[in-house]
Amino acid sequence: MSALQPVRGTHDLLPEETRRHRRVEEVAFEIARRYGFGEIATPIFEFTEVFSRTLGETSDVVTKEMYTFADRSGDSITLRPEGTAGVARAFISGGLSQHLPLKLFYRGPMFRHERPQKGRLRQFHQVGLELLGIDSPQADIEVIALGAHILDALGVRDKVTIEINTLGDGESRAAYRGALVAYLSGHKHRLSQESLERLERNPLRVLDSKDEGDRAVVTDAPLFSDYLNETSRGFFDRVLGGLEALGLAATVNPRLVRGLDYYCHTAFEFTTTALGAQGTVLAGGRYDGLIGQMGGPSTPGIGWAAGVERLSMLLDATPPTERPLAVIPLGDEDAALRLCERLRRAGFTVELGYSGNLKKRLARANKVNARAAVLVGGDELARQAVALRDLDSGEQEEVPLRSLEERLARFR
Ligand code: ATP
Ligand code: MG
Repeated sequence: MSALQPVRGTHDLLPEETRRHRRVEEVAFEIARRYGFGEIATPIFEFTEVFSRTLGETSDVVTKEMYTFADRSGDSITLRPEGTAGVARAFISGGLSQHLPLKLFYRGPMFRHERPQKGRLRQFHQVGLELLGIDSPQADIEVIALGAHILDALGVRDKVTIEINTLGDGESRAAYRGALVAYLSGHKHRLSQESLERLERNPLRVLDSKDEGDRAVVTDAPLFSDYLNETSRGFFDRVLGGLEALGLAATVNPRLVRGLDYYCHTAFEFTTTALGAQGTVLAGGRYDGLIGQMGGPSTPGIGWAAGVERLSMLLDATPPTERPLAVIPLGDEDAALRLCERLRRAGFTVELGYSGNLKKRLARANKVNARAAVLVGGDELARQAVALRDLDSGEQEEVPLRSLEERLARFR
């Protein structure tokens, strides 16, 4: 450990990378707005129970990954590992049940103490959304379509597959749980220590194990789809039918379970093979029991979250910055400074050539990929004019100061 290193699993985002992140976030919010979503920003830390009671006592996130500490008042505080619990807490504490249905988009950093790898960080970023108050499958269809729409707008849709499953309602889950426990109990000797504990406390979680031995056992486990009651089956069929009607190809993956406890009915993941082991870029599902279980008014909900780092790695190119104008003082620095300010206020992106001879300053202008250079000084300035050089063609002309903005308009 060195105090001059970033903490393991954290990163400084330099301008090129923040541009990719911003593009992901801005496109996501822009599309979400078209579906009627507004933005919510909850605190990045909450009382620990907000997460421990909702994500599930046996989930990976709660058992191994949370950044939890006692603050100076002795309260147990946790840096948020995900967004849904905080939004649900805000819904309850803000009395937002008057305003249903609610469509909320969020973005920002999340914190999980995981083993860092490509696409897996300890501070990472998500964009996500929650649709609260609608228990109809139409909401499920709409939020999945919205996710796909965002990937379209980012130009990465062809790299991503939509996988979907149902976890059914409470009755179906209880029936399945029984069958699963019976099956897993017959294979105890092949299960990891962790899965043995989960078998006691939350057997569904075994299906989500990343241990290879566990996965081999899980391959032959009973299928959830065989234990769905009529309501759950009908709900899922309606979701699948709606996606089909929208032309959205989704692959039913009967092994898909989510890592957190609060899900029911629809669960989905958008996955890619382009990022190695960290293949899930967007994931979510329905959580009708969550808000009631937290002590709020029983309210259905569905949502998803997407990893900004993972999506930004899928982008083909870093979004370009605008090519600036270079203003180069030839003698009268104040005149050049004034002109820079004037052009920036007129909306131009302007780089001031700070020092060196003309050649050096032009080299610097080329380095920042300037579109044109405005040379300020000498005879031209005495005539209330500047020299304007097109840095692509090399052509230079004299332009009166008063009509400079007009002349520069073609370089925007
Ligand atoms: P994984 O199986 O990859 O651990 P998860 O099920 O823990 O994912 P979610 O809690 O569903 O992930 O979070 C939603 C999305 O956030 C993920 O699909 C992923 O894109 C992103 N994400 C989750 N954890 C990390 C992390 N540690 N670093 C970077 N991105 C992450
Ligand atoms: Mg995880």
